[in-house]
Amino acid sequence: MAKEDYESVIGLEVHAELSTKTKIFCSCPTEFGGKPNTHCCPVCMAMPGALPVLNEKVVEYAVKAGLATNCEIETDSKNDRKNYFYPDLPKSYQISQYDRPLCKKGYVEIDTEEGKKTIGITRIHIEEDAGKLNHDDYGRGSLVDLNRAGVPLIEIVSEPDMRTVEDADKYLKKLKSILEYIEVSDCKMQEGSLRADVNVSIRKKGQKEYGTRTEMKNMNSFRSISRAIEYEIQRQIEVVENGGKIYQETLRWDEVSGKTFSMRDKEEAQDYRYFPDPDLALIKCSKEYVENIKKNLPELPESRKERYLTEFGLSEKDARILTSSKYLSDFFEKGVKISKNPKAVCNWLLSDVSRILNEKEMEPDEIPFKAEDLAELIALIEKGTISSKIAKDVLEKMFEKEGTPNEIIEKNGWIQISDEGAIKEVVEKILDANEQSIIDYKNGKDRALGYLVGQAMKETKGKANPQMLNEMFKDALNKR
Ligand code: ADP
Ligand code: ZN
Ligand code: MG
Repeated sequence: MAKEDYESVIGLEVHAELSTKTKIFCSCPTEFGGKPNTHCCPVCMAMPGALPVLNEKVVEYAVKAGLATNCEIETDSKNDRKNYFYPDLPKSYQISQYDRPLCKKGYVEIDTEEGKKTIGITRIHIEEDAGKLNHDDYGRGSLVDLNRAGVPLIEIVSEPDMRTVEDADKYLKKLKSILEYIEVSDCKMQEGSLRADVNVSIRKKGQKEYGTRTEMKNMNSFRSISRAIEYEIQRQIEVVENGGKIYQETLRWDEVSGKTFSMRDKEEAQDYRYFPDPDLALIKCSKEYVENIKKNLPELPESRKERYLTEFGLSEKDARILTSSKYLSDFFEKGVKISKNPKAVCNWLLSDVSRILNEKEMEPDEIPFKAEDLAELIALIEKGTISSKIAKDVLEKMFEKEGTPNEIIEKNGWIQISDEGAIKEVVEKILDANEQSIIDYKNGKDRALGYLVGQAMKETKGKANPQMLNEMFKDALNKR
């Protein structure tokens, strides 16, 4: 059989660190970094006799995430102990939720080339993060840092509803943007605030049953997730094509070789000996409590996108890209408030600003200037103070933090020449030096005009007002 005869099936378990001020069962700070073992107390270090107290904010944030992803909220949910041994887990169990998660049966929508697609969310539960092992570079041992132990997490488990690498990428991006909009997680993937376990299987097209899945744990970049899924699909097809069998196992993705390696057999729920945590009470979420959170939910990416179509007349595609990042769309709205020119703000953000961000491998929230500055730049073009060509250079300098657009223009002497006398002078000078172009123009070759304007632009280092140049060249040519 050929590659095209197979279909891939993907399901993601996404872990997001919640941005509550304190940990889930104690009052230690959740702040990233810090000297090892300075954000700890007897509870999160698992001293005998220390008792956990559930942080109410964690429940609120998780309920927010559940509502934003169309989940049902459980009125009586509970905390369970998931037992396993690992040096970064001092209690030798993780407090998580087993059979009664806080949220279940939700979904999110993604835009694909074949239209909208719904990805089911099986459940969202709350749990505590583990500590971190710092491995000694010389192989002398590992040091345990418990600053992260007890930082609250939500785990968002999807249905195996994704069929392609693009589906998985879009789903994850959508989820990230929703969590950013409702401000429950900073979703910094490079700091591990958002990471995913990726489950992949293949089956023959038309086959009903799912194939056996493999799982890659703790992945924290969009690029490696896409690469890993791509590789794993190919690997599984090859195994099956060669008469082999897929085993349910946990794999490790190796970024350098671009391959997956077998780590261990998949553990089963029974291996964890789940049982209700006797130190913690049931989590009661009344209808009122949930309603109240629902009422105060901020605008979500989907409805913001719809609003951009009607309020600002943007295209579906532009609106989608802008709203995919809360930071970018907040920036856009601030810019529009000042410049009153939504199309221009949108164009600048999605073309030149995005291009530079890409080149510099920066995220929108790292744009080093304010929305006010972009609005100022647009106003300068509208007023004819600078050409849009020069504006691009100004933007580059704004990224270099060289000041506001006005300051940059002044410093570099970039103000557009709109003075008739000065332009006339340039026009005459260029005409004198280009006899042939004059003849060409007279012979009906319109291209000659463009060439002359180009020469004048070069002469003035792009500062001449292009419309004036055009008109004055025509005038002068007709007089010659
Ligand atoms: P575990 O924690 O043991 O991995 P879960 O039920 O919590 O089990 O998560 C299973 C994840 O694997 C879900 O995201 C689900 O969508 C996905 N999944 C289940 N079966 C398949 C399959 N055959 N192919 C791909 N993904 C699958
Ligand atoms: Zn603590
Ligand atoms: Mg799993």
